[in-house]
Amino acid sequence: MILNGTTRTVSPGSASHPLPRPGSPERGASQGILRKPGGDEASIAAPAPPVTFPFSAIVGQDEMRRALMIAAVDPSVGGVLVFGDRGTGKSTAIRGLAALLPPMKAVIGCPYSCDPAKAAGECPHCSGRPETRRSHLAPVPVVDLPLGATEDRVVGALDLERALTRGEKAFEPGLLARANRGFLYIDEVNLLDDHLVDLLLDVAASGINTVEREGLSVRHPAKFVLVGSGNPEEGELRPQLLDRFGLAVEVTTPTDLPTRIDVVRRRDAYERDPAGFCAAYAKADRALQKRLTAARARLSALDVPDETLEAAARLCLALGTDGLRGELTLMRTARALAAYEGADTVGIDHLRQVAPSALRHRLRRNPLDESGSTARVARAVAEVLGS
Ligand SMILES: [Zn+2]
Repeated sequence: MILNGTTRTVSPGSASHPLPRPGSPERGASQGILRKPGGDEASIAAPAPPVTFPFSAIVGQDEMRRALMIAAVDPSVGGVLVFGDRGTGKSTAIRGLAALLPPMKAVIGCPYSCDPAKAAGECPHCSGRPETRRSHLAPVPVVDLPLGATEDRVVGALDLERALTRGEKAFEPGLLARANRGFLYIDEVNLLDDHLVDLLLDVAASGINTVEREGLSVRHPAKFVLVGSGNPEEGELRPQLLDRFGLAVEVTTPTDLPTRIDVVRRRDAYERDPAGFCAAYAKADRALQKRLTAARARLSALDVPDETLEAAARLCLALGTDGLRGELTLMRTARALAAYEGADTVGIDHLRQVAPSALRHRLRRNPLDESGSTARVARAVAEVLGS
């Protein structure tokens, strides 16, 4: 884990960053860094890209890192909910992960960063101009959703006046447009308006954002991994919303001395020399990137055997989870983990590893069992799957 303060701007032009760095969270992926011609390092026209704390340099927080990687391998597992103390490196981990993902090919000028290899049908920008879909490489976006954001700012705004007076359909894309193909991060998601959380979960599940006002309607692609973080002591999420996040992980401040020292030492080294620190972890980040890319490619070829599915069902039955969402998530998560590990099949051990993150937020309150949800899942795993 890391302490807070995720990014820091350093002198640009250092050649020691072979990996893509994301734009600042409030900027779109398509806004590149402009330099004046001539290459004079002193005459940089735009601010330098922030240097992100490397994902591979994060100490501990294994469950959170694994959940984020699983979501990156297969976004269909649904979002990730991270519960825990402040300053446990949640935001840093997301930015670090996005930064190590391979840059994506995106249509130049498209506010939704469309993939030029895909049909333009869903995109209001590209579908009108299929012949001009030139592309560039853009970093995977990480978009922050601030708590006070209005619905218009999140989903985008339709300009009704322009539509009525000039007959034009004018749409101002919102944060969901910018998050397409990347990550949408909400700190303190439990303090966000329920209605907005509901809407976000709908869009995340369908991959399409539809905005309708007074008979006008706009649809655009919005495929993103939703990552919400929060402190349960400051407000609970409604169970109906909780259950719609794919994975839930708990992070805590480490209590053992060596880990704490390691965290502080690495943070300090990063603050003193971000470029040098990142260079030291570039190789490890590249290795992770390779693994993630390979896992994505393996995913579609991986079958889940009947015995694994049966074990997943027995586990969910034993825990009394509502509906079938738990089993579906458990299966997808185990498959993504198997792909990440380069396994040939999805086995019981994969289930065992992912069961806490896939199920702990789906348990009904049991008045006779006051032990925490993590302990209950662990007990059921031991009983049903064996240790
Ligand atoms: Zn487009």
